[in-house]
Amino acid sequence: TLPGLQDKVAVVTGAGSGIGRAAAMALAKQGVKVCLLDLLNERTEQVKQELAAMQAQAITVDVDVSDPLRVKQAIDTAAGTWGRLDVVFANAGINGVLAPIEDMKPEDWDHTLFVNLKGTFLWVKYAIPHMKQKGGSIIVTSSINGSRVFSNIGMSAYSTSKAGQIAFAKMAALELARYKIRVNAVCPGSIKTHINQSTHPSPELEKVKIKVEYPEGSQPLEHAPGQPEQVADLVAFLASDASSHITGTEIFIDGAESLI
Ligand code: NAD
Repeated sequence: TLPGLQDKVAVVTGAGSGIGRAAAMALAKQGVKVCLLDLLNERTEQVKQELAAMQAQAITVDVDVSDPLRVKQAIDTAAGTWGRLDVVFANAGINGVLAPIEDMKPEDWDHTLFVNLKGTFLWVKYAIPHMKQKGGSIIVTSSINGSRVFSNIGMSAYSTSKAGQIAFAKMAALELARYKIRVNAVCPGSIKTHINQSTHPSPELEKVKIKVEYPEGSQPLEHAPGQPEQVADLVAFLASDASSHITGTEIFIDGAESLI
């Protein structure tokens, strides 16, 4: 059992799938009440039922993470339901359109930045009023693409958004230290999820000369992509008092994938 999580309240974005779903389950196992947020309610409803089977308390709210009004409403709903907010896991994200920079449509660039980066800013912004009295923990899902792995050609928007999330988490950690709110970024390598459903390669990608062969499963540690549950364990640790002195940092969870 991790210290300091029993009866706490968390919001988890992208909770209907992959890392968000696994993190919601990991937090619930520690006694956390979880507000499950995603674009589609069908997905989070299923997770909610799985949590109910574990006797865990959960609610769902469908929300586009880049819509300021809906984000504020969702956070107020979560905090209003249980009278507090202790943990924010700003995790929802997309790979978006992959294209060479010269062919990248500005609106496609904007969409990826809106969901991944503005989406992170909004959750932190609207969570602060609910967390500033008692403190808490905010965790952001960035990626090894945010600072180390740039071999995925066509992912300029994605990598920029992921780098922005790391810088933002560090600024937020500094600003919010006075409220005893910790902010950290987790940076996964390849993880077995449904993220490819949000990947849209453009036809122009074919013409990009630099093509780095990067076989799936080339992680030195396990020779396979990681599991969402492995990231979820890190998220639960960062949410708990076991990490009470850790803030403003980026933690790689990639089986050394970013080192090769
Ligand atoms: P996933 O596709 O399985 O889950 C992402 C969830 O986010 C989905 O349920 C989706 O509906 C939701 N979502 C997408 N856009 C949204 C929006 N605008 N509003 C609300 N919800 C939205 O993928 P995942 O791998 O679990 O991704 C979670 C995070 O992990 C992302 O930020 C991703 O960039 C990051 N990440 C994933 C990997 C990987 O290999 N899977 C690696 C590094 C980082």
